[in-house]
Amino acid sequence: MGISASVACAVHCAVLPLLGSSLPIFGISIINNSSFEFFMILLAFAIGSLALIHGYRKHHRNLMPIFLFSAGMLLLFAKQIWHERQFLILPFAVIVIVAGHLHNFRLSRVAGAGTKKPKITSYKLFPISKT
Ligand SMILES: [Zn+2]
Repeated sequence: MGISASVACAVHCAVLPLLGSSLPIFGISIINNSSFEFFMILLAFAIGSLALIHGYRKHHRNLMPIFLFSAGMLLLFAKQIWHERQFLILPFAVIVIVAGHLHNFRLSRVAGAGTKKPKITSYKLFPISKT
């Protein structure tokens, strides 16, 4: 169980966030196809949620990454509504989504993802958050 669990963990913690945060960039309408963009947003949402829920449940129990991610997803939907301003909104959406994944990753490292002993003993980006 140990090896398979850590492989699943590596996928959840490292691979999925990379995929999830790069997808919205492919969603830019080069071919001006909004159903394709919408599909990319849903895919980024599904993949990102998997990674963040894994991090939350298995590592840190901190809701801040999910909060950041949700904000980024709202921005992506806003981009679809105000489509003529998408190039203004998209960078912010991607930054917030990447920030959420990074925060999740760092919190997971603190909690000792993949290892038994935590490498960093304390890390808090937002000291107000509980637990
Ligand atoms: Zn993990």
